[in-house]
Amino acid sequence: MFNEISAGVVRVPVVFVNAYLVDVTPGAPDDGWVLVDTGLPGLGSFEIGRVAASRYGPNSRPRAIVLTHGHFDHAGSAGALAARWNAPVYVHRLELPYVTGRSDYPPQDPTVGGALAMMSRAFPHGSLDLGDRVHALPDDGTVPFLTGWQAIHTPGHTAGQVSLWRPADAVLLAGDALATMNQESWTTTVTMPRELRWPPAPMTTDWAAARDSVRALARLRPHIMAAGHGLPMSGPHLADALNSFADTFHRPAHGRYVDRAARADERGVIEAPPPAPDPVGVALRTVAGAVAVGAVMLAMTRTRHRA
Ligand SMILES: [Zn+2]
Ligand SMILES: [Zn+2]
Repeated sequence: MFNEISAGVVRVPVVFVNAYLVDVTPGAPDDGWVLVDTGLPGLGSFEIGRVAASRYGPNSRPRAIVLTHGHFDHAGSAGALAARWNAPVYVHRLELPYVTGRSDYPPQDPTVGGALAMMSRAFPHGSLDLGDRVHALPDDGTVPFLTGWQAIHTPGHTAGQVSLWRPADAVLLAGDALATMNQESWTTTVTMPRELRWPPAPMTTDWAAARDSVRALARLRPHIMAAGHGLPMSGPHLADALNSFADTFHRPAHGRYVDRAARADERGVIEAPPPAPDPVGVALRTVAGAVAVGAVMLAMTRTRHRA
């Protein structure tokens, strides 16, 4: 009935991104639960609410919401759900500026190549403001209300991205530290075959840190791994596959952040490298400009005809 990837960990797909419901006591839903990520604005709130009501009861609310990071596809429904459930929200302290209205993310890089990069032209990169509901995760790596889980800082995709790890059954929720699908291809973006891939490339602003984070996750040797994008992966070969992916991890061939990372600290973005040349963007703007001019001229002609 539920997409349960391991005891008490339920995947909730929201169009192209995943949220997770995590039992405080695995397999005992009555003991309470924590929400990990919240999906897109609106749709995430609806779908997570529906699945949570069915698993935990219509009046149930989570003890807390943990965000792997603050991008719109993971934190988009955080404000609405936190308000509806009066729940605290936790992020890594380096992610706080982007969910408290203090800093925008570095702009996404549409020049890095592939389907997602093309689509990212329409993505927002502004910060959210979740107000005083949001708190920093504890520095010791514990996760509030989730005994048995660890929050592991896995920067690179964003400065404060975390992955959640439960050693008892070697379950890893990787957020966007990596993906289990290829988002660079238009076909696999729809068909979603399982494949170990980069973190979502156009929003990844420090590729050396991203590689180190993947290597740190590989050292955990997970038995089950579920990311923000793609279907969960498991089985006897997962740990070795993740290790060879980490060993051969290479950054994209080109892109704004490939040779120089954006720099950020607890106040937010300090410096971002200049945009890379973007002939596609120029062409799109030219076409959009021509369409706009044409529409204005057409409207003027019709107005003149009526006068
Ligand atoms: Zn992301
Ligand atoms: Zn994402």
